[in-house]
Order: sequence, then structure tokens, then C-alpha cells
Amino acid sequence: MIANINIRAVITALIVAGLAFWWYYEPLHWFGAIIAAIGGVFTYFIIKTKRKQNLHRSLFISLFVIFLVTLLMIVYIDNNLSSFIDWAAKHKIDYYEPGETLRSTIYPCTLVISQVFLGRAATFFPSTGSWLVTFPPSLNAFLWVMVPFAATILIFGRSFCGWICPFGGLPEAMVTGKKERWQLNFLKKRVGTASILYYADIKEWVRDLKYGVLFASILLAFLAVVPIVCLLCPVLWIMYMPTFWIIIGLMIVFAILLPFMSKKRWWCHICPLGAFLAMFNRISLFRVRIDKNKCDKCFDCANECRMYALTPDIVSKTYKPNEDCIRCGRCIENCPQDAIEMYFPATSLRNRNLLIFLAIIAILAWYTWFVFILLGKINNIF
Ligand code: SF4
Ligand code: SF4
Ligand code: SF4
Repeated sequence: MIANINIRAVITALIVAGLAFWWYYEPLHWFGAIIAAIGGVFTYFIIKTKRKQNLHRSLFISLFVIFLVTLLMIVYIDNNLSSFIDWAAKHKIDYYEPGETLRSTIYPCTLVISQVFLGRAATFFPSTGSWLVTFPPSLNAFLWVMVPFAATILIFGRSFCGWICPFGGLPEAMVTGKKERWQLNFLKKRVGTASILYYADIKEWVRDLKYGVLFASILLAFLAVVPIVCLLCPVLWIMYMPTFWIIIGLMIVFAILLPFMSKKRWWCHICPLGAFLAMFNRISLFRVRIDKNKCDKCFDCANECRMYALTPDIVSKTYKPNEDCIRCGRCIENCPQDAIEMYFPATSLRNRNLLIFLAIIAILAWYTWFVFILLGKINNIF
């Protein structure tokens, strides 16, 4: 029995549980204990098992569900839809605008988001169901608050899209089954001779689409004098109802229909945040590489990759995924030759467990805002 216990997994789990307890024990100690227990047990099992994909997928989809449930609870339980839309219509959009209040809930704006995601900068009052943000008091302090954001971008690069982003859970949930129902060959390059033709990679313009969307978003934010982060905010979408319906339409096509039919995360191929993060993949600590001596070119990895980061063309030429790799690890677990791993740059030191450990810590820290809202709502209900 004791021989089956993985010491490395135990130590990692204890660190995560300790941090989770410290992070969440205010305002309710029992809540800190629950998050610590869940975080610790989850960490133990995901570090211990070789097949991490099932747990990874459950975690990633859960983040989307928490995000959605939080949003729905705010709109439908405490307030009602029409008052929320009224509030959204009057909502001001300025750089570094603090959050605005509707009843007892402060909705985050540019400044408040960065404070609360840092965690522990907000004090929650269970008696009133509201919370107060007291830090940072100056612009300098605000810039210090941005350090964790910069660190997240630098450390994770596009691993953020594989582990942390709440929006990514929807297309991930839609990718089900083994069957590629739509091949979408018109978006791919054809190579080979007339007798042996195959589709090696997606076309360049398809791959670059996200950079076009990023450029258009920056331009739009600049012309409309809106913080770029607000373009990702559901409140801004609701302010302009036609925009809201356009985004819902894009979500249905790119986050639901296309992922379900093609087994790829198409939403993440047009996402401007994903494009921004992809630019940092080159300096990320986590590099997926294929051992060319072991690889027999079966291309199972390319079939399994949700991001077209590994394609037959890429495997044959570079033996490493391109900048769209989200470090999810599917290819690692689906390679029959055990030829793929994640390493520190330019070394043979494996670091997949380190990525998972850091991702769980980041998730616990970054979701503070949502947990506070849920706590507020739960306290109001009971
Ligand atoms: S590409 Fe965009 S939506 Fe997809 S996971 Fe990354 S940040 Fe989230
Ligand atoms: S699954 Fe493994 S063996 Fe097959 S092509 Fe990919 S790296 Fe090579
Ligand atoms: S290359 Fe591998 S780790 Fe990267 S996104 Fe594709 S399946 Fe995930």
C-alpha cells in the first residue's frame, strides 16, 4: 500500500494545499480548507498518473462552467436581466476605471480586475454580501500589481490556453469522440504526387487569421478609446446588442459547431488573446519536442492535436510543434512510440509536472474574483 504512494506527488499536493488554504482562508476558514482539500487531492492524482488527459480536460472544462455559472448567478439570481442590461448600458468605459456597483456587487473594470486577480486585495463582508478593494493606492502600486500578469504571460505563454483560460473550456468540451466529422480540407495544403496525395498542414492565411483579429482589435480599441481588455468583456458586448449577437453567432460557429465537427479548437484560432500569447511561446520555459530517433511518422500526434500545432508537415520537418502549441500534453500521451516530451529549453530535463503544478497554482490565484462573487451570492441566498 505505502509502496504505491508517489512521494513527489504527495509533496507537490501538500504545497498546493498549503497555498490554497492561505489564499482562500479569508473570509471563511472552512472555505479555505475545502479548496485546499480539493486542490491537494487533484494535484496528487494528476501528478501521479501517467494518463493526465482525463483529469486535465475535466479541470479545464470546469473552469468554463465556474465562469458561466458565476455570470448566470449574478444576472439571474441577485439581479434580473433587464436591470443588468440597464446597468450595462450606463456603464462607463475609461482606462483604469474602478469597478461599478449594482446593488451590493462590484463589477470589475480595468483597475479592479487586476487587483482582484492578484487575490487577497479584496476584503469580503459576509454580513452585507459585498467586498471592498483597498489596494493599490497609487499608480506605482498599480504597476506592481501588473507584475503577476507579466509573469503569467512570460512563464506560460500559450500554455495559458491549455490550462487556465475559462473561455477555452467551451471548444474543448465540444471536441468529443474519435471521428473527425468534417475534414475541412479546403483550409489545408495538399502535398505529394497524384497517386499519394495528403493534407499536410493548414494554409498560412488560416493560421495567421488570429493575428488579423488581434490587429483589428487593437485598432478598434484605439479608435473607440476603449481599454483592449474590455473587448473581451461580456458587459461591453451587452452594451451594444448587435455586437452581442455577432459574438454569440461567432461562438456558435467557432466554439461549438466547428470544434464538434472537426475535433479542433477553432475558437482559439481566431482569438486575439491567443494570438498575443502565441508570440510569447518562443520564450516560454516549456517546450514540447519529438525524439526523431523514436518517431515512426504514424502522425497519431497530429490527429490528436486540437490546435494544428503538430501536422504531418511539421512533424516531418521540425520535430516540434509550432507557436500554436498550448502545452496540453495530448500528443505526449497518444504517441505509441513514447517519442514526445516536454522539456526546459535546450535541455533534456523534463518539466511537464512543473507546468501542471504552476498551472494549478495560477488557477487557484486567478479565479479569486469568481470565488468571491460566488461566495457573495451564496451568502445572499442563505
Ligand atoms: S485562444 Fe483565447 S479563448 Fe482560446 S484558450 Fe487561449 S485565450 Fe482562451
Ligand atoms: S505519434 Fe509519435 S511516432 Fe507517431 S508521428 Fe507523432 S511523434 Fe512520431
Ligand atoms: S502539440 Fe501536443 S501539447 Fe501542443 S497543443 Fe498539440 S497536442 Fe497539445
